[in-house]
Amino acid sequence: MERKVKTIGVLTSGGDAPGMNAAIRAVVRTGLSAGLRVKGILRGYNGLLEEDIIDMDSKSVSEIIQRGGTILYTARCLEMMKEEYQDKAAEICRKHSIDGLVVIGGDGSFRGAQTLAKRGINVVGIPGTIDLDIACTDYTIGFDTAVNTAMETIDRIRDTSTSHERCSVIEVMGRHAGYIALWCGIANGAEEILISERYDYDEQRIINNIIEKRKIGKKHYIIVNAEGVGDSNGMAKRIEAATGMETRATIIGHAQRGGSPTARDRLYASMMGAKAVDLLLAGATQRIVAYKNGKFVDYDIEEALSMTKDVDQYMYELAYRLAR
Ligand code: ATP
Repeated sequence: MERKVKTIGVLTSGGDAPGMNAAIRAVVRTGLSAGLRVKGILRGYNGLLEEDIIDMDSKSVSEIIQRGGTILYTARCLEMMKEEYQDKAAEICRKHSIDGLVVIGGDGSFRGAQTLAKRGINVVGIPGTIDLDIACTDYTIGFDTAVNTAMETIDRIRDTSTSHERCSVIEVMGRHAGYIALWCGIANGAEEILISERYDYDEQRIINNIIEKRKIGKKHYIIVNAEGVGDSNGMAKRIEAATGMETRATIIGHAQRGGSPTARDRLYASMMGAKAVDLLLAGATQRIVAYKNGKFVDYDIEEALSMTKDVDQYMYELAYRLAR
């Protein structure tokens, strides 16, 4: 019997995340070992529309599992939001005989993949984002590395903050999602965790707290601020003016995106890459690979994109209970 899928493509899209290379490697090598041709598409949907497509062999993914970033490069592609370009992208897949496409990225990238699935291209999405903000999965590629990088940086800031008896406002990434901030809040023992999912913008409460904690002898005050809350510099100035405690803002920024992926990111990304190819071989037409309740699973794209998730309330309250 003739197998349906003969050639697969792989691309990375949206923000990069450490571990994407491990996923690409797994897609390429799983595909090759199943007898498929594997094509790498450069710079996400931009590269697809520009036919920036290369043949991948086993060697093309050598020496990348330990590297951050993505060897396929990544980009945002506004054209892909328009139907005419979605038609064109599907045409290009057919022209290059790509009958299965693996898209590594976030929700937006999956929406792009969904438009191709509607045009008859088999697609499988792999969650790749440091933000952990994909509803159908408890794990996204890159979060573990990013949160560990942020945690180590905050440890360093804490040392100097304690020596100088300062207050520190430390901004971590996550756009509208507070997962990195929440995890660091607990892992670093921060006094405040400001995430857009919960923060009520009551700065006076924070100021009162700082004054109280100083009275009982606290030598530092760490505020972990999620990117979505923003204004860390302004907040530091206002806190210093109101409390008299020297206050500095640090925005950790893109350091959180780079660096060698953790063991978890390498392993889970490898599992997800292999699973994506297995799904295409089994005839999947539009699935998202996910990690749920300790297992690697998959969902229909439509279903996955309709799911919602929120930060764990117990975890959020715990952070404050432990920050006494
Ligand atoms: P991250 O979470 O890291 O930002 P993401 O995949 O959510 O990743 P987006 O910028 O939202 O990042 O989307 C990446 C790309 O996916 C977009 O630049 C665009 O090419 C495509 N895309 C996003 N939304 C859609 C949509 N509704 N229809 C078609 N394509 C889309």
